[in-house]
Amino acid sequence: MNSALEDWVAMYSSVKASQSYDDAISFVVAHEIAHRALQHYDRLQSGAALQDLETEADRLAALLVVLARNTKVYPDDDYILFGPPPGRITITRKDFFGDPESICLLDLNYKPSGHISFFRYGYSFSGFDSLGKGNAMIVPSAVRLAIASSVSDAAVWAIREAQWDTGTCHNSNKELQAVAQDPEGQISRLLGEARTEGDKHSDKTAEPDSDIQYEFRRSTIAANEPQVVKTIYLEYFEQLRR
Ligand SMILES: [Zn+2]
Repeated sequence: MNSALEDWVAMYSSVKASQSYDDAISFVVAHEIAHRALQHYDRLQSGAALQDLETEADRLAALLVVLARNTKVYPDDDYILFGPPPGRITITRKDFFGDPESICLLDLNYKPSGHISFFRYGYSFSGFDSLGKGNAMIVPSAVRLAIASSVSDAAVWAIREAQWDTGTCHNSNKELQAVAQDPEGQISRLLGEARTEGDKHSDKTAEPDSDIQYEFRRSTIAANEPQVVKTIYLEYFEQLRR
C-alpha cells in the first residue's frame, strides 16, 4: 500500500472510531433525557416496573438520536451533503455520479450505531448486566439491543423513503405532487410492499448488505415498528417539502 493510501485508511479509521464514540455517548445521554421527558421518576414511585421504563427510555433514545443526526440531510439545490450533519460534511454536485438516478442508491442517511456499541460492549463493561436492585430483574443487553435497533432502523428507513418521495432522487414534480396529495396513503403502500417483500425472502439465507437482506430487513421493520415508520415518514415528508 502506498503511503497516501495508508494515511487515508488511518484517517478514515479514526473518523469512524470517533463517530462510534460520539454515537455511544449520544445514545446514553438521550436515554437519560428520555427518562426525564417520560416522567419515569414519578412513574417508578407509583409502582411502574423498572425494566419497562428502561426499555421505554431506550426506544425514545434510539429515535432521538436518529432525528438529531438526520436534520437537514439534503438541501434543496444542486448540491448534496454527505456525512452526518452537523460537521464532517463534504459537498458535491448532484451530477458528480453521472446518472442522477444513481444518487438514489447512495445512503444519504446517517445511521447511528451508539446503541449497538453501548449494548454490545459498554453495558456489561460498566457492570449493568449484573446489577439488580432488590428483586428488580435487569433486562439483558441483547434484548435491549434488539429493541433499540428495531426503533432506530425503522426511523432511518422511514427517513430514506421520505427523502425519496420528496424529490431527493429526482422525482418529477408530477410524481411529488401525487405523493403530496396523499402521503398517508403512500406510507401505507410502502409498508404493505415491505411486508410482501419480506414474505418473498423470508425463506432465503440473506447475505449481509445484499439487496435481499435490505428487502428482508424492510419487512421486519414494517412488521415490528409500523407506527414509528409512519410517524417519522409523515413528519419528515412535511419537513423536506418546506
Ligand atoms: Zn435508564
